[in-house]
Amino acid sequence: MINVDFHIHSMYSGGTSNNMEIPVIAEQSKLKGLNTIGSGDCLNKNWLNHFVSSVTKIDDGTFEHKSGMRFILTTEVEDQLRVHHVIIFPSLSSVEEFRYIIRDKSPNLDTDGRCNVNLAGDELLDIVNNIDGLIGPSHAFTPWTSIYKEYDTLEDCYKTKNIPFLELGLSADTHMADCISELKDVTFMTNSDAHSPWPHRIGREFNRLKVKDNNYDEIINAIRRRGGNQFVLNVGIDPDLGKYHMTACTRCYKKYTIKSALEQKNRCTCGGLIKKGVADRIKELCDQEVTHPSHRPKYIKTIPLAEILVQTLGLASVNSKKVQDLWKLLIQSFKNEINVLIVTPREEIEKVAGEKVAQAIIDFREGNIYIEPGGGGMYGKVHLTKKDRNQSSLDTFL
Ligand SMILES: [Zn+2]
Ligand SMILES: [Zn+2]
Repeated sequence: MINVDFHIHSMYSGGTSNNMEIPVIAEQSKLKGLNTIGSGDCLNKNWLNHFVSSVTKIDDGTFEHKSGMRFILTTEVEDQLRVHHVIIFPSLSSVEEFRYIIRDKSPNLDTDGRCNVNLAGDELLDIVNNIDGLIGPSHAFTPWTSIYKEYDTLEDCYKTKNIPFLELGLSADTHMADCISELKDVTFMTNSDAHSPWPHRIGREFNRLKVKDNNYDEIINAIRRRGGNQFVLNVGIDPDLGKYHMTACTRCYKKYTIKSALEQKNRCTCGGLIKKGVADRIKELCDQEVTHPSHRPKYIKTIPLAEILVQTLGLASVNSKKVQDLWKLLIQSFKNEINVLIVTPREEIEKVAGEKVAQAIIDFREGNIYIEPGGGGMYGKVHLTKKDRNQSSLDTFL
């Protein structure tokens, strides 16, 4: 079993941390408990050079940092209709080939990490097929830059139904997406889309894969469910916490029903723009009762450990010394964050971090928390109990 986060961004993408460098990403991903991570932004020449000089090649599509963290070549691109796609590449030469093919179609290939490509989804798919890569929609239901903000079906975008994977995004989960019948054969991905390397961001969503070895071919077989390989877990934040979960104003974050948003022509009383939430978009696309195909793995909801500690200890920030000290103690005791969040038995956590923290982690595992949903670009708020009046928004840490 390996834990994989396929989608992050480098320091060359907009709004990212200067710490998004391979050595930092590798070390922090290890503390998180990931085994393999997508390089992100691999079409950017500067990032690709930095990547190549920071890792050793295991095989054409698999790379390793000296910390032991493995990498595969991935990027996100924005197409001509502002739809985002995740692309996975089989080799460095295929990245070069892709760069060459789109060189006249992209105005910012080397000046941005997530480049724009003036092509349609199906044209991108053709190129990806030619280089033997994989493509699928990023954060598929979000209101600004996703496939379903633009189209009603995968086929409308790619001119084929045969798409290997779809990234759910932070505002959706398996339960929501499995009411769309065309997704029954598609592997769902839960990725962080992280812009900073700290373990409360990187791997905040990840996938657990059953593979025979930790390498590119085995990972591709898991996505395609070949040779007994498959995804065995999707782990993500509760979709209610996602910043586009509900339909809401993007200026004052007031929430709206679809009906009232339409009545007001998507203008909030404050004058701001109302954006359709992921939950409402999925309701429009829904064409069946929730039906999980037999290959669909369980979806575990969690949030980063540092945030659970902030909530439990009643502190303001993930950067406070108390939170950091306890976080380090837990990681030293149980090796990595993913173990603490989803594996380590309650009694063992309690011995290290006390009853309250242990209870909070179990409450997350079992869904016994209260969430005030996010929308319009603001993350939801989490309360450990319904009576908890000490509200704090995920904005402080996401
Ligand atoms: Zn994106
Ligand atoms: Zn407003």
